[in-house]
Amino acid sequence: MSEVRTYVVLLGVPGAGKGTQAKLLEQSTGLPQVSTGDIFRYNLKNQTELGKLAKSYMDRGDLVPDDVTIRMVEDRLQQPDCARGAIMDGFPRNLVQADAFDKITAPDGGVHVVPLINLEDDETIRRITGRRSCRTCGAVYHVVFNPPKIENVCDIDGGELYQRDDDKEETVRNRLFVYYKQTSPLIGYYFAKGVLAEVDGSVPITEVQQALLALMG
Ligand code: AMP
Repeated sequence: MSEVRTYVVLLGVPGAGKGTQAKLLEQSTGLPQVSTGDIFRYNLKNQTELGKLAKSYMDRGDLVPDDVTIRMVEDRLQQPDCARGAIMDGFPRNLVQADAFDKITAPDGGVHVVPLINLEDDETIRRITGRRSCRTCGAVYHVVFNPPKIENVCDIDGGELYQRDDDKEETVRNRLFVYYKQTSPLIGYYFAKGVLAEVDGSVPITEVQQALLALMG
């Protein structure tokens, strides 16, 4: 049998820093970031069938249907770069997906580490509405808390920075509502399995990263 895989499932409200932390964890652990939001955005940009299907849900801040999302993640986790596991950013997002994720990863005897990155709602809204992403590499910045060296230009590859459509305030409020209604039950789900660990998301990015790395042992 191949080595046991490690799956880190990042939980937390939109804007808690899951994407930023997943990218840093990818660099330090070599496990790939699997961001369902990024995969949907890639499909949207390339106008694939999947992108067209996902668009209306994403525009409203609602979840894309489970069957489509689960199949997409299943395919992604079969790619060779996931041979040692993955850092899950934005999946699972409800109990049906969590159950499916358990079934997908069970044959690998996967070790799950589930950090919950805590952040107050007000701070969430401030963070998301100031968030900017690179069009080419997806790096994430904040106009005040984590600005690029040159305004609107990515430090990494010089790409243009843009604001995600669903990062506008009206959509952010619905995304928070969807989080509390559908995603927050996962806190109890993973707590009961003994794999949940809370992390303070309000401290600087490097401190959150240290706390996450400490959890991974
Ligand atoms: P994110 O980048 O994680 O904030 O995701 C952006 C949007 O993509 C969400 O508001 C959903 O519309 C969709 N999405 C991302 N992950 C999932 C998921 N696991 N299940 C359903 N929809 C998702």
